[in-house]
Amino acid sequence: MKDTQVEKLVIIGSGPAGLTAAIYTARGNLNPLVVAGREAGGQLMLTTDVDDFPGFPEGIGGPELMMRMRQQAERFDTRFVAEDVLSVDFRQKPFTIKTETQEIKADSVIIATGASAMWLGLSSEQRLRGKGVSACAVCDALFFKGKNVIVVGGGDAAMREAQHLSKHCKSVTLVHRRDSLRAQPALQDLVKSKPNVKFIWDSIVEEVLGEEKVTGVKLKNVKTSEMTTLDIEGVFVAIGHKPNTGFLKGQLELDEKGYIIVRDETQTSVQGVFFAGDVADKRYKQAVTAAGMGTKAALDVEEYLENLKG
Ligand code: NAP
Repeated sequence: MKDTQVEKLVIIGSGPAGLTAAIYTARGNLNPLVVAGREAGGQLMLTTDVDDFPGFPEGIGGPELMMRMRQQAERFDTRFVAEDVLSVDFRQKPFTIKTETQEIKADSVIIATGASAMWLGLSSEQRLRGKGVSACAVCDALFFKGKNVIVVGGGDAAMREAQHLSKHCKSVTLVHRRDSLRAQPALQDLVKSKPNVKFIWDSIVEEVLGEEKVTGVKLKNVKTSEMTTLDIEGVFVAIGHKPNTGFLKGQLELDEKGYIIVRDETQTSVQGVFFAGDVADKRYKQAVTAAGMGTKAALDVEEYLENLKG
């Protein structure tokens, strides 16, 4: 690419939101460039079975779904850069997007960088990450074959982690800070039907135990303050996500948690910069809703660029 070339549209992110925006804008002749990230595909790359994406009555694997979306975008000549964005400059137009090796200029941008797993915030948890502490059962379950593990959290993600781990581990204990789950009933039922899954209610992890690798956890019952120790070898944290917006600080209005502040539908605080997906979605966070937002952002960009031409 020549330094002077200005892209009509750069899409940052390659999960369902970014790729759907790419399919629509490519079909709309905007010739989008997707900065896909080093770990392209987003959270679905870490998901085994997707049973709630319409059009797949038997379900579909997360990575396969993302591969198909990408192939669909490529069919309409979407271009991809397999790098992370390091910084952006939205103060003047054309906008500037810096990756590891390129400085890209663009008339419009769609931010679709999604969200990443949150951690409990314990120093013992950080020290033992990769040594028994994980946030991805799909990635790490095989390391815990025949072992006893816990999953922390009570949402859909925790159920999915427990379900996946139950196939490989001797036992999975779900530790939740309340006495009822947030997860959708179908996933709760699925996990409760597994004979090797147990539940510990009203409890939080106070400390992850172990020197070189995890050997147990210290749990506190939040109602009785009773402390117990559980001998386990794996801790899977599934307590939600935070938006991937670090590179946008000072460039766009973000709320206190880092979510993009919505101005109008898919418009951010900077005209010409749009968003789609979990990067601004605190509530729904589904692959389908992200894809839907990708469509809305694509249509809004088309209208914005049309108006620019005058
Ligand atoms: P979530 O729905 O926000 O649930 C987070 C869970 O972690 C809650 O149960 C919460 O407890 C608990 N939690 C939060 N902070 C904690 C802390 N510091 N210590 C202990 N526990 C803590 O997040 P999620 O499960 O990651 O799901 C995010 C979104 O993705 C949801 O919209 C979900 O539907 C979607 N998703 C869907 C699927 C699927 O298969 N359909 C799979 C994964 C995710 P409280 O309940 O007490 O707040």
